[in-house]
Amino acid sequence: MTDETAFPTTSSPLPRGRGVFCNRTLNFRALRAIGYDMDYTLVGYRADVFERRVYEMALESFLVDGWPVQDLVFDSEMVARGLVIDTELGNLVKANRFGFVKRAMHGTQALDFAMQREVYTHALVDLADHRWVFLNTLFSLSEGCLYAQMVELLDQGKLPQVKGYEDLYRRVRAKIDTQHLEGKLKEEIAAAPERYVVLDPEAALALMDQRAAGKKLLLITNSEWSFTRRMMSYAYDRFLPEGMTWRELFDLVIVSARKPDFFTERAPFFEVVSDDGLLRPMTGPLKTGVAYLGGCAVQVEQDLGISGEQILYVGDHMFGDVHVSKRLLRWRTALVLHELEAEVTALESFKDAELVLAARMEEKEALEARLSQARIAMQRLRGGYGPTQNLTAKELEANIQECRERLSTLDPEIAPLARASSELTNGRWGLLTRAGNDKSHLARQVERYADVYTSRVSNFLHATPYVYFRSPRGSLPHDPSSPGGPPLSAALSELGDV
Ligand code: IMP
Ligand code: MG
Repeated sequence: MTDETAFPTTSSPLPRGRGVFCNRTLNFRALRAIGYDMDYTLVGYRADVFERRVYEMALESFLVDGWPVQDLVFDSEMVARGLVIDTELGNLVKANRFGFVKRAMHGTQALDFAMQREVYTHALVDLADHRWVFLNTLFSLSEGCLYAQMVELLDQGKLPQVKGYEDLYRRVRAKIDTQHLEGKLKEEIAAAPERYVVLDPEAALALMDQRAAGKKLLLITNSEWSFTRRMMSYAYDRFLPEGMTWRELFDLVIVSARKPDFFTERAPFFEVVSDDGLLRPMTGPLKTGVAYLGGCAVQVEQDLGISGEQILYVGDHMFGDVHVSKRLLRWRTALVLHELEAEVTALESFKDAELVLAARMEEKEALEARLSQARIAMQRLRGGYGPTQNLTAKELEANIQECRERLSTLDPEIAPLARASSELTNGRWGLLTRAGNDKSHLARQVERYADVYTSRVSNFLHATPYVYFRSPRGSLPHDPSSPGGPPLSAALSELGDV
């Protein structure tokens, strides 16, 4: 998690982690409108500080209810975006793209590999099933951490009023929900935004460029009017030309949008008529320069005269911003994944070790192939059938022995490298986008629903509003293999996990 109070200004070349990565071809020139989410998209927060505060407030509220939670302490590394809560068993799990569980934690303790396999051999993570709760955003960190810790209290018999893991989840969820909905949290943040907000001096210019290039800009946030006004003003006004405010960046501002319902249902718009949030029902079509509350995406399309493929929506919530707008309305989508910068940096710093690992794995595969050939030759020789290699049983036995010996020295070289790779960025859970030897469930969702993904909005500044993102050619296992031998992932599968 970043500690800076402001993102560093960039000078070219940009670090790779600040790229815009493309899953499906996206021509910015064909876009007529760009919609932005606010929290963790246009406005970045220090997630460790923000989530600690939400956690503490929820804890205080549990204490008032008489729950024995006084010794719990927030740990921002305990969980990560993209993990899944198993509300049936009180676990947190990380699944791969097929939904197979690759790592699991009960309470705050990792399940060992044998136990994990026993528990999850027959259970696939299926997010359509209420048993599983996906941690969609950085707002999920407080909830995940609190749940994991309270599972232990439940196991110790200290929460007699709770009827089980599922009930516990509902109670934690409700408590976290309340913190966001009651005014205290937002008031604290609005009173001291410098403690929570990570300023990005380049984001304002990115939006100005897009606007001047003829795009309609929309702000569509679930946050309330007063909070939106305070945060946008704090994060943008200082970086705009003299006399200009954040409001002039946007054709439409929509607050309390109730995403994902905003994308799926019809709801009325209200006009925000004064800075203190006075409302009146909207009459006529949506008007440029006006701020609204509520509403729905269908009417945005209708009143602006734009269709799904002409609007890009940029947000950080995997489900509420990206999945739903893509699946139902076919909007073009961009996911903001703040953690990507650390993820790419970690991968880059591991590059040399990965080369060593790939070389060892290549050697291992060659030895295994040689061993298999020697064994089959021995089998045929003993069975008196099929072609043989013109070697005696003694020679074949020596061959087999030699392969086995070399393999046994290779494994101890491979294991620590594979383990280090599996612990990049987070010792418990590893990289966000990987799960064991495969893509993570989160990575699969990104691939399916986000046309492009990037670490922050200002990365679009460097791409310009005239960019044409082209998707890479999708790779398949039968494609001619890339140079450098078998992938690192093969080594990870050797470890069982990890
Ligand atoms: P957006 O990302 O700009 O759409 O805004 C997210 C809003 O949702 C913020 O005002 C958050 O405080 C709020 N939020 C985040 N998590 C929860 C929750 O669990 N319950 C209710 N509101 C939430
Ligand atoms: Mg958001």
